[in-house]
Amino acid sequence: MPMGEFDLIRRHFSRPVQRAVLGGGDDCALLAPTPGMQIAISTDTLVEGRHFLSTVRPERLGHKALAVNLSDLAACGAQPLAFTLALTLPRVDEPFLAAFADGLYALAQTHGIELIGGDTTAGPLAIGITVLGEVPPGLALRRSGARLGDDIWVSGELGDARLALEVFRGHAQVPGDALEALRMAMEQPTPRVALGMALRGVATSAIDLSDGLSGDIGHVLQASGVGARVAFDAIPRSERLRAQAMARQQQCLLAGGDDYELLFTAPPSQRQRVQAAGAQGGVRVTRIGRIESDAGLRVVSGQPDDDLAQATRIDTPRAFDHFASP
Ligand code: ADP
Ligand code: MG
Repeated sequence: MPMGEFDLIRRHFSRPVQRAVLGGGDDCALLAPTPGMQIAISTDTLVEGRHFLSTVRPERLGHKALAVNLSDLAACGAQPLAFTLALTLPRVDEPFLAAFADGLYALAQTHGIELIGGDTTAGPLAIGITVLGEVPPGLALRRSGARLGDDIWVSGELGDARLALEVFRGHAQVPGDALEALRMAMEQPTPRVALGMALRGVATSAIDLSDGLSGDIGHVLQASGVGARVAFDAIPRSERLRAQAMARQQQCLLAGGDDYELLFTAPPSQRQRVQAAGAQGGVRVTRIGRIESDAGLRVVSGQPDDDLAQATRIDTPRAFDHFASP
């Protein structure tokens, strides 16, 4: 007899919980938040063919499904607590599920969080995760706090995940040994949780880069009622991306998507604390521009401190939108 829904859950998604009062197996899970803390909640779904290629290794898919959710907690400066998993599966594929669960639990363990429940249904492969975290009152990082004169920062390097996609689509070529690193960027992003927490009380606004810098920074600008100038040459990128034609670099860096790095703002007086937060988060942070009063985003050549008169404007390709993009 084929494995049923409940056997599947018991076998693959019922590892014991310690922090939660009650994990999976009942009608609800129970969680005791730290007294006085605010709960941060976020949901993200990955759909086969939309968010991942069917060729992805299942361990990496398990990792990524949780990583993109943790990235949202990171962008709020929240400490992850627990998560739920809504799985839609075309069939019960034992090796797939075992490997998927391994990748998922490995990242969960890295962040000390527990799977406390979920839902399992049959249908086209899709993975929905809801994460819960906590943050001290008033200290959650939001999109709406950017102020005139703030520096704009990003963590890590941008663009590699999009370059990987372009290589898989046959639009770009890279040397053979570069492909695995690109693939890792696309399939195993590192959520910047420790950085987000270290930026509490330092950053004035933050967002995680999931749809591409130009679109995501647009959300910050809109929520904050400000504009921005970004110095294109300062945007951190790998040597692999730097070796590509300029139009490809612009596409991958500005409209890339799937970066899962943090973009945040902070006043210039906080530069040392931002660097310290980067060190605490174990990731390089780079200043790429400044918040301005003129509405909208201007991407220009050069570095953030360059004389504006010398700069040439760079067109910003549009960021990804599930319903508006081709
Ligand atoms: P209900 O009948 O109340 O909707 P379900 O039959 O969907 O509950 O699930 C039974 C139990 O198994 C619940 O505690 C639920 O949280 C858990 N569960 C279901 N699917 C998953 C999953 N994919 N991962 C973890 N726990 C799950
Ligand atoms: Mg149910």
